[in-house]
Amino acid sequence: MFRLSDDTLAIREMAQAFSAEKLAPHALEWDEKKHFPVDVMREAATLGMGGIYVKDDVGGSGLSRLDAAVIFESLSRGCPAVAAYISIHNMCAWMIDTYGNDTQRHKWLPSLVAMEKCASYCLTEPGAGSDAAALSTRAVKDGDFYVLTGQKQFISGAGNADDFYVVMARSGGEGPKGISTFVVEGGTPGLSFGANERKMGWNAQPTRAVIFDNCRIPAANLIGKEGDGFKIAMSGLDGGRLNIAACSVGGAQAALDKALAYTNERKAFGKKLNEFQALQFRLADLAIELEAARVFLYSAAASYDRGDADKTTRIAMAKRFVTDTGFEVANGALQLLGGYGYLSEYGMEKIVRDLRVHQILEGTNEIMRLIVARALLAETR
Ligand SMILES: Cc1cc2nc3c(=O)[nH]c(=O)nc-3n(C[C@H](O)[C@H](O)[C@H](O)COP(=O)(O)OP(=O)(O)OC[C@H]3O[C@@H](n4cnc5c(N)ncnc54)[C@H](O)[C@@H]3O)c2cc1C
Repeated sequence: MFRLSDDTLAIREMAQAFSAEKLAPHALEWDEKKHFPVDVMREAATLGMGGIYVKDDVGGSGLSRLDAAVIFESLSRGCPAVAAYISIHNMCAWMIDTYGNDTQRHKWLPSLVAMEKCASYCLTEPGAGSDAAALSTRAVKDGDFYVLTGQKQFISGAGNADDFYVVMARSGGEGPKGISTFVVEGGTPGLSFGANERKMGWNAQPTRAVIFDNCRIPAANLIGKEGDGFKIAMSGLDGGRLNIAACSVGGAQAALDKALAYTNERKAFGKKLNEFQALQFRLADLAIELEAARVFLYSAAASYDRGDADKTTRIAMAKRFVTDTGFEVANGALQLLGGYGYLSEYGMEKIVRDLRVHQILEGTNEIMRLIVARALLAETR
């Protein structure tokens, strides 16, 4: 079905080497200490991973979504939490590249591509998660400025020293058409943050509320036209969903690799675990399910790259299937380590904790079913 091109294979080799050397050895410690490794992400950026599908006139790598999927899969083998944040950063950079004007692109993208600035995507609010079009953060025009007031919830990467926010806020009436997209730069008066949330996984990246209290930004920070914000936010998520699914594949592959190594060492009843056919079949099933997820992911990424009319539906299908499968494969791999799978030291429970949230964010897997069902039902009408 797929033969990755030689270029994509070379990109995968580069990303896997980076992941094995720079992420994997530290992932457990970052998780435990809740350390956000900005310095390491900047190293990834020197290899082109800060603007993977940003155009090259501003320093981007200009790669395809299939290349990106392969990169995020590779990074996630080392640490799903760091890989997933780099994915969100790339989504924001792409939104500026695609919908920003040339002044905005040249002003912001070079520092985003280098990850000198780390971007956050601000859509969710305390009262508007799945129903994002109900968001209530206001953006009121005041001469050459907009004044933002409201709160965003669960914002990945927020509250860092060199931060950059892509914010969806209501500049018009109710519903999706009243929403616009703005850039709020770190340090703007009126911008503040909640505490770093304590959470099940993804501990190597902060999650905070982002609060706008009469936060005054130049009118020139509007991205695209007033009223385009919801469309811009959703088109960013098409790619974000591919990437998050890729992070599930990479994390699950790391878990399966650990299970393969462990069952080749551990003995019970006088034999190595991998000599029991029941466990050989379990390993085989995990590998089969993971490969099905990977192929589905690559196929959805190729659909994006071709610009298929139904790409959003295909991506929603893949995000639902791949993130559910990734979690189940990692959890199944944990079982093969017995009690040791449950201990932090073996790195397995961290993968399971990290992958769990992929079923919830960038649109929950229920919302993915909603997108698919809408498309199916539309065909019957
Ligand atoms: C660690 C973490 C990081 C995050 N990072 C970001 C970020 O960087 N930026 C950002 O904007 N957001 C972020 N989010 C928010 C995330 O996208 C939302 O949590 C998610 O979209 C769900 O919204 P909610 O939590 O309000 O749940 P709700 O929308 O309240 O949903 C609750 C439950 O009801 C289900 N449900 C809701 N509506 C329907 C329906 N119509 N049909 C069937 N089921 C339905 C949902 O699937 C879910 O199971 C993050 C979340 C987490 C946990």
